[in-house]
Amino acid sequence: MSTRIIIAPLFAIVVGTGATAGAQTGAITIRAASALDGRGRSIPDAAVVVQGGKIVSVGSGRAGTATYDLRGLTLLPGLIDTHVHIDTHFGRDGRATSEGETPQQSMLYSVENAWVTLRAGFTTVQSIGSPSDVDLRAAIARGVVPGPRLLTSIRPVNENTGTPDEIRAFVRKVKADGADLVKLFASKSSREGGTQTMTDAQIQAACAEAKMLGLRTWVHAHSPSSIRAATLAGCTTVTHGSQATATELELMQQHGTWFEPNIGLVSQNYLENKPRYLGIGNFNEEGFAFTEKGIPMKREMFKHALAVRGLKLIMGTDAGAGAHGRSAEEIIYRVQVAGQPAGDAIVDATSHNAMSLGLGERIGALAAGLDADLIAVDGDPLKDVTALRRVVFVMKGGVVYKNVAR
Ligand SMILES: [Zn+2]
Repeated sequence: MSTRIIIAPLFAIVVGTGATAGAQTGAITIRAASALDGRGRSIPDAAVVVQGGKIVSVGSGRAGTATYDLRGLTLLPGLIDTHVHIDTHFGRDGRATSEGETPQQSMLYSVENAWVTLRAGFTTVQSIGSPSDVDLRAAIARGVVPGPRLLTSIRPVNENTGTPDEIRAFVRKVKADGADLVKLFASKSSREGGTQTMTDAQIQAACAEAKMLGLRTWVHAHSPSSIRAATLAGCTTVTHGSQATATELELMQQHGTWFEPNIGLVSQNYLENKPRYLGIGNFNEEGFAFTEKGIPMKREMFKHALAVRGLKLIMGTDAGAGAHGRSAEEIIYRVQVAGQPAGDAIVDATSHNAMSLGLGERIGALAAGLDADLIAVDGDPLKDVTALRRVVFVMKGGVVYKNVAR
């Protein structure tokens, strides 16, 4: 039996506004050739029953009817990207800047990014982060604008935010403004060498205050000292970590710090789109030289990370302009280039990511009681991880946003 899948925007079927989503009360049965449950289990002849936006049961068996017959395809939980910049885009002149745009124009680019991200099978993303995310998050949550479940840090803390006391006040303010987490810039950009910028005391103030308020912290850190400071300060997650050595990787493991390396898509995207970035901020020739030099370095760092038993790895891309809708490329790179087993890379991008967002009880797995976020891909990603590029079915919260399976 062969299935021929055509992936084209023309074939997209968007079902459901907020009203119909809420009204959907009947049980929906989805059958697929197999399912990966996001926690490492593989289920042949999968049958998933959904009702009221939640997964009711996940079983196996060939008999019975299906509301969505996806036999020939592989079912997975909706993918999660813990690090995107959902507002970033190429503007009217094709460059990676929103200069000269009206706020309405900028917001429409964000809406487009949300839509292509959801269509690519990512049902939850964390934006790190922009003030405009707040309105986008609300619009998506109303169920009218199609997009992934969105979390945002709104505004970051950096070395110029102020004294530890001023940083604590800043953290309280972003919480009051609706932030889901706090982003810290503890080191320079990788295009500027990545050395530590915030003092240890500033990092401690931000992460301790956030923790007290029930917010997670995401720390941009490239250099060993910045990774070490974030880890010792009890921050939730270190992102990038490109210069991490065995010492920092083991330290993160010992402290239970989540580690979100971004080793593939972000650099690929900058290099592919170099003319669109060059001349903006630190995107100069020297910066691009750092990017190119960083590629093998990050790959080796990641191989070391894979060897640290118990290190809590997650999957975030740092997607900017040009990378939206391509988040799966990071998973593919981790498997094809850096040698991570595909099953592990998928668990990182689903249940591990959900746990790192504090949403492990709601999303990130095919399991009874969780939100009905699930996707189907053409092929078996355990055998050919590029199947993740061929997302043919997307359901979020029980609503089908894409179905090109027929
Ligand atoms: Zn970022």
